[in-house]
Amino acid sequence: MHRKDDCIFCKIVAGEAPSAQVTEDERTLVFMDLFPVSEGHTLVVTKEHFENVFEATPEAIAAVGAMSKRIADALKAEWEPDGLSVYQANGAAAGQTVFHYHMHLMPRDAGSALTLQGRTQAASDVLADQAARIAARLVH
Ligand code: 5GP
Ligand code: ZN
Repeated sequence: MHRKDDCIFCKIVAGEAPSAQVTEDERTLVFMDLFPVSEGHTLVVTKEHFENVFEATPEAIAAVGAMSKRIADALKAEWEPDGLSVYQANGAAAGQTVFHYHMHLMPRDAGSALTLQGRTQAASDVLADQAARIAARLVH
C-alpha cells in the first residue's frame, strides 16, 4: 500500500501518530479533526496515500463515500445538528492543507458560519469522548 513518509495522515494510519479514532474498514480510517470547526467534526481518510481526488482511485473514493454515509448518520443520531456540511478540498488553491485525500463531516447549527480560519486545537480527551460517542451510534 502506497504511503508517504512525511505525511501526517499516513503516520496516523500506520499508528505512528496519535488520533481520536472512530472506526475503520479495509480502505478507510475515521478520526476526529484536531482543529474542529464544530463539535463532532470528523475526517474520513483513505488508508492508502493519495494526494487528492485526481490521484485517488474510484474504488478508494467510493469507500470514503460509503464510510461518510455511515458517519453522517451517526453524527445526526448523536448531535441532531440543524445541518451537516460534507467538504473535500483538492490543492492549496482550494484550501487543502493536508495533502492526503480525506473527507470532512461537520455538524452545523443554524446561522453558524463555515469558517476554517482561526480554529483552536481540541483537547485529546474531549476528542476521544466524541469519537466514542460516534462509534456507539454506528448501525450499519
Ligand atoms: P484540509 O485543510 O486539507 O481540507 O483538511 C485538513 C484537516 O486536518 C484540517 O481540518 C486540520 O485541522 C486537520 N489536521 C491537521 N493536522 C492534523 C492532525 O495531526 N491530526 C488530526 N486529527 N487532524 C489534523
Ligand atoms: Zn498520506
